[in-house]
Amino acid sequence: MSAVPELAPYPTLLSPIQVGTHLLKNRVIMGSMHTRLEHLDDHFRREAAFYGERARGGVALIITGGFSPNEAGRLEAGAPILSTGEEAQNLTHITRAVHDGGGRILLQILHAGRYAKHDHIVGVSEIRSPINPRSPRALTEDEVETTIEDFVRCAALAAEADYDGVEIMGSEGYLITQFVAKRTNNRTDQWGGTVKNRCRFAVEIVRRIRAERGANFIIMFRLSALDLVDGGSSAADIDYLAKAVQKAGADIINTGFGWHEAPVPTIAYHVPRAAWLFAAARVKKAVSIPVIGSNRINTPELAEQILASGDVDMISMARPMLADPQFVLKAAAGKSDEINPCIACNQACLDHIFTDRVATCLVNPKACRETEFDETPPAARKRVAVIGSGPAGLSFAANAAARGHEVVLYEANRETGGQLNLARRIPGKQEFDGLLAYLRRQLEVHGVDVRVNVRVTPATIKQGHFDRVICAAGIVPRTPVISGMHHPKVVSYIDLITGRQPAGERVAIIGTGGIGHDVAEFLLDGHDAVDAAAFYREWGVDPELAKPGGLAEATTPAMTREIALFQRSETRVGERLGKSTGWILRNKLKKRGVQAYAGCQYDRIDDAGLHYTVHGESRTFACDTVVICAGQEPAQDLARQLQALHVPVDLIGGARLAGELDAKRAIDEGTRLAYSI
Ligand code: NAP
Ligand code: SF4
Repeated sequence: MSAVPELAPYPTLLSPIQVGTHLLKNRVIMGSMHTRLEHLDDHFRREAAFYGERARGGVALIITGGFSPNEAGRLEAGAPILSTGEEAQNLTHITRAVHDGGGRILLQILHAGRYAKHDHIVGVSEIRSPINPRSPRALTEDEVETTIEDFVRCAALAAEADYDGVEIMGSEGYLITQFVAKRTNNRTDQWGGTVKNRCRFAVEIVRRIRAERGANFIIMFRLSALDLVDGGSSAADIDYLAKAVQKAGADIINTGFGWHEAPVPTIAYHVPRAAWLFAAARVKKAVSIPVIGSNRINTPELAEQILASGDVDMISMARPMLADPQFVLKAAAGKSDEINPCIACNQACLDHIFTDRVATCLVNPKACRETEFDETPPAARKRVAVIGSGPAGLSFAANAAARGHEVVLYEANRETGGQLNLARRIPGKQEFDGLLAYLRRQLEVHGVDVRVNVRVTPATIKQGHFDRVICAAGIVPRTPVISGMHHPKVVSYIDLITGRQPAGERVAIIGTGGIGHDVAEFLLDGHDAVDAAAFYREWGVDPELAKPGGLAEATTPAMTREIALFQRSETRVGERLGKSTGWILRNKLKKRGVQAYAGCQYDRIDDAGLHYTVHGESRTFACDTVVICAGQEPAQDLARQLQALHVPVDLIGGARLAGELDAKRAIDEGTRLAYSI
């Protein structure tokens, strides 16, 4: 795809906008994300490839992950820092790639403050964060001054490295926010107390960078539009700060929602789309410079609708740009059905970052791995059979066909999608609909021959004269050995989620992995997506910001049935769920009264319910339904039969290895195999 056609289907989204002295070509910003690419060898080349591809994809402005202005402000040892000319020199690889791709790029300056994970941690006051075991040392007045100068030097170095400007990170609970909020600032000098004093640090940074850098350098201020913590900023404080940074010289305000320690999810799939727009729209009313909306906005349709309403002036999308670097070009070409959608799972981006791994994307394994995929077309076109159309089979088929192979995709059921068809029925996971629609569209676009309702046998393969067979036949649910497994009250998770079997009012769930938890959520909320008002009520969010921080009393919806989760191991129930979503699920189920039992030995299932023993004590959970979510086994029978045919057979996804299978691994394996043939 080449240049962005003017104002094609999304007239507001694709219209230019003046930001300071710069005319940006459209209203799409790639928001800041930590990638941890800096921890890999050859990382400048990798980062240049990563950002360059997104610039070529048509986004108007890219914001980097955070760079600390000094050692103390680093998030962790080895985290990005920009404090010397040599560091600036290395970054020119990145700015050159972005400018060559037709984009602009801002360097984000982020001082972690009391969120730092190292021993030189400093804060505004000596108040420890509840999510960091380390206590900060309060900055002296002199150190506050030098820290501001470090921000100014960092901005100068960013200019030296040819960045078009900087984003000053003043949200999410990092150092600047810690100055602004009374929660973390109990100083009695000129940096604490009144709102003017608490905002002084932010204002001085903006004022001095503007004075130093002149008018042509973009200064974006990321402002916490809603802290979602007790003792956070009041509505009046937020307005004050927005006006003050505008006056100090900011060209544009980006918005952030929720500190990292907030008890409310802000970007996971549980959060309704555009749930925080009200807070960004409030900020826009306070200022006359452009304001950016963000979080849980992942389609051009939604972005257009928001911009057309006039609530904000630009849309920032971070994860959607991991999922599809060509988001803007595809939107402009009227091909939004070809945009690979971010499903807000956090599994390969945030969960990787939180567990010290380099980020990538569940739906796009090439994200942050751009240099690992050779786009050269294959030497020879092969005729390939793919058996199974779950995420592994679909990804392989779409990518192999896109690379020029002739692909026949067989599916035993009447529709493609495999386990994705189950995931999309879980409340909040309706985002999987978009992924499935995208993958199906890719099959059409690249001419995959899709044959549903076909149960493949060795004869099918023999008659098809294939060069290669990809077995992506998926998994079969594990059937545990428990007396009474054939009792009518026992149902499989598949039958429950697809509606083939109903659940009663008292339900035992055997198995507490991702699927056991999904089933518990499904039993609580049914298929329906949670609407914004219900979400605010359940998580205690006050869109009116009556109290500083914007929290309110949470209201737990009434339980319609009694649910209990069981596992054999002694570990905490739900411990292996994703880092960034597990806490949400555990909290939600606990608040709703779902019971959880670890260390169980299952004795039998009968008319009375589930009988089990915990630490030598025999118990009975009286129930009318027992749902089995005990993991899976690979479906390999067919693959074994195919071995006699002397055609190369590759196993991918659950068919290769069922343990720890998830859509992330399935899509990664399918995509990588497609690039290897
Ligand atoms: P899983 O994560 O492997 O969990 C299987 C559960 O079954 C465990 O709780 C295990 O606990 C229990 N179990 C295993 N063998 C058993 C046996 N013989 N008898 C009784 N219980 C047994 O599998 P899953 O829940 O099916 O999930 C599959 C994959 O999808 C996982 O990789 C998961 O991460 C992913 N997924 C993730 C999410 C999410 O993160 N929200 C959602 C859905 C799926 P004990 O051994 O302690 O009894
Ligand atoms: Fe979005 Fe999931 Fe990809 Fe993260 S891993 S960018 S949340 S689809």
